[in-house]
Amino acid sequence: ATAGLVVGLAACSQEREAGGEETGGADAEGALIGIAMPTKSLERWNRDGSHLEGLLQDAGYETTLQYADNKVDQQITQIQNMINQGADVLVIASIDGTALAPVLEDAAAAEIPVIAYDRLINDTENVDYYATFDNEKVGTLQGEFIEEALDLKNAAGPFNLEPFAGSPDDNNAKFFFSGAWDVLLPYVEAGKLVVPSGKAPASNDDWQSIGIQGWGSDTAQAEMENRLNSFYGGGQKVNVVLSPNDSLALGIAQALEGAGYAPGDGYPVLTGQDADQANVLNMLAGKQSMSVWKDTRALGDQVAKMVGQIIDGGTVDVNDEETYDNGVKVVPTYLLDPQVVTPDTVESVLVDSGFYKAEDLGL
Ligand code: BGC
Repeated sequence: ATAGLVVGLAACSQEREAGGEETGGADAEGALIGIAMPTKSLERWNRDGSHLEGLLQDAGYETTLQYADNKVDQQITQIQNMINQGADVLVIASIDGTALAPVLEDAAAAEIPVIAYDRLINDTENVDYYATFDNEKVGTLQGEFIEEALDLKNAAGPFNLEPFAGSPDDNNAKFFFSGAWDVLLPYVEAGKLVVPSGKAPASNDDWQSIGIQGWGSDTAQAEMENRLNSFYGGGQKVNVVLSPNDSLALGIAQALEGAGYAPGDGYPVLTGQDADQANVLNMLAGKQSMSVWKDTRALGDQVAKMVGQIIDGGTVDVNDEETYDNGVKVVPTYLLDPQVVTPDTVESVLVDSGFYKAEDLGL
């Protein structure tokens, strides 16, 4: 697909050099693509940024790739600078999906198309496309994994569950939680899953009450320590923790270890997302049960393709035009498929696909 993309763009840029400018697109050769990423502190965004930048440069574009240290104002300034530099397309993985409307007014005034990357941008009509993994499905996969691991359909239970949700300002977090809670809430209501901390949202919409701001591992660790100290006296054990992603799972695993939980010996089912290296190592060590892997290379490939189609002035690939309503409009979206990885499939899924080298994982 990438080879086709490069050939297509080369052809289109030649055509333009010969045939003038009136296509609605910019010149492929030398067009500037601004890429705004949230933070370097989480492994996946580093991979996302460098992969996408590499693809776009190979296709003949100039790029500016900026990370904003999870600071909303810094991201806004970076996007403003990209606009001032004359970017032809903006690709933005937002920190706070509700904070970019004003700067995107400026982008629209300069006629710069915007692709929301991984996270939707809300409350503005000035976002043209969205590319992401199916966020709801990420949660469904986590919920179904728990359902199977504890054999909830058949086992009597009850099992002690501690649920967590992602950052309240991240539009994805509600989808992750919803997908999982649709599967798990009926078991909570039936008393098969019990939440000793009481932190069980009564409905999907109440997820923010258990959200971990900024997706911080330390915050998740502190929260889990708190719950274990306050609600697990007298030999009571936690059997399962719903963690929406790997950065939270990392902190939760630390808290579990600190409280004396050992792999294999009554260690709870613990979910995650991203297949970050530290978490894959934890999975292999029995400290995390699964991760939902999102092949960031595939997302980058898709977004690079969409950038090409925009520059080209052609039709942009989307496969979902109903799910992602940002409050002002339904944003045409390209959804990719996430995939479960467990300790048993680390090698066949993550190593065989070349996402990790065996030696990265000590295999
Ligand atoms: C992404 C996840 C990531 C989380 C924290 C979400 O928006 O979809 O892959 O784990 O942010 O950065």
